[in-house]
Amino acid sequence: MVREIVIWPDPILKEVAHPVDRVDDGIRRLLDDMAETMYAADGVGLAAPQIAVKKRVIVIDTSPRQEGQTLIHLVNPEIVRGEGELTYTEGCLSIPGEAEDVDRFARVWVRALDYHGKPFELEAEGLLAVALQHETDHLNGTVFVDHLSSLKRELIRKRMKKLKAQRAAEPAAEVKTAARHESAL
Ligand SMILES: [Zn+2]
Repeated sequence: MVREIVIWPDPILKEVAHPVDRVDDGIRRLLDDMAETMYAADGVGLAAPQIAVKKRVIVIDTSPRQEGQTLIHLVNPEIVRGEGELTYTEGCLSIPGEAEDVDRFARVWVRALDYHGKPFELEAEGLLAVALQHETDHLNGTVFVDHLSSLKRELIRKRMKKLKAQRAAEPAAEVKTAARHESAL
């Protein structure tokens, strides 16, 4: 089921999400809904707080932009190590139409549970590494605009306020404005 994506600023996007005790059918349903929602919005990553669920769950699929990748489910992800520097122009499904350069680790090592609750480790670079850092940020109540200057952030806040007002007045227009940028996370 495609869920509604929360638009920044919103209190839930500032909260720290709770760890998952057990990967059961409920969590798998959540993972399925999140993947469906991400694909419907043409995004490459989504964190549970973006659909108003305060759980440490993310999905990522960078395959349209990065060879050899596929859908990845991560429950309770943890970045155990980061190395190097990479500046990437990021977008966010919760901040539609905006894209700004953010400095990240170029390579990360992540530990998480998979769709079946099995622990796994992942080493990533490029867009996948960016996505892992961007989505893990969401679980800690941080969005990419928090990495920008306050001036830039306030301009984006104004545009989001306008967008929310527009959507409230004209709900049908909502659908395809979501992810025009190539790396909406
Ligand atoms: Zn995001």
